[in-house]
Amino acid sequence: MPDERLILQEYDRYISGLFASEDDALKSARAEMQREGMPEINVSASEGKVLHLLARIIGAKRILEIGTLGAYSTIWLARALPPDGKLITLEINPRYAEVARRNLQSAHLSPKVTVKVGPALESLSHLQTAGEAPFDLVFIDADKEGYPKYLQKALPLLREGGLVLADNALPDAVLDPKTDHGIKRFNAELSAHPDLISVLVPVLRSRGIDGLTISAKQKL
Ligand code: SAH
Ligand code: MG
Repeated sequence: MPDERLILQEYDRYISGLFASEDDALKSARAEMQREGMPEINVSASEGKVLHLLARIIGAKRILEIGTLGAYSTIWLARALPPDGKLITLEINPRYAEVARRNLQSAHLSPKVTVKVGPALESLSHLQTAGEAPFDLVFIDADKEGYPKYLQKALPLLREGGLVLADNALPDAVLDPKTDHGIKRFNAELSAHPDLISVLVPVLRSRGIDGLTISAKQKL
């Protein structure tokens, strides 16, 4: 039997070849991350396109991202913004944040994007008090144990009808009833949340299959 992962890679290559080809800025963002020895844990091009399209569909003008790395997903999201749009992205690692800023500059997105350095929970509190809310879309993609708290903190910052997206929502651990995992708690909370209407969509990765949750904040 052929290696299942190789087949998944082929499917993903087919999808991104047609729908999510990378331009120079996206290619060089990945090359820069590699050169800096950063982990290759950015979203795939096809998932980047999903994020981009969802932001466009809701006409997002203000986007909040939790977990920047080298700004690969940030570039996909920020490109969905109108000329007066704004994206704030939160990153704990100052070295990663520097690489992200450089990549955003090369992509001519610096005027629209602010990289905020620090633990996301603290930055989320600052955003609340600084009057940065409301956001149209929140993308959660930082440390997985933190997801339930990020959801709790981000929801009040989101407008009604806005979207919460979360990456890496389908780790192997979801199938193991014995393990405790931040994502399992997150998915369970999401599915039961009275203010959200949600689904978990499988996405293809070079490592195998993963997931993206999509939630809309219900109008009251
Ligand atoms: N969204 C990126 C990938 C993010 S990887 C992309 O797809 O291109 C996860 C990032 O979250 C890492 O850069 C890591 O440093 C950051 N991170 C981990 N814990 C964090 C925390 N408590 N606050 C903010 N960022 C955190
Ligand atoms: Mg991720």
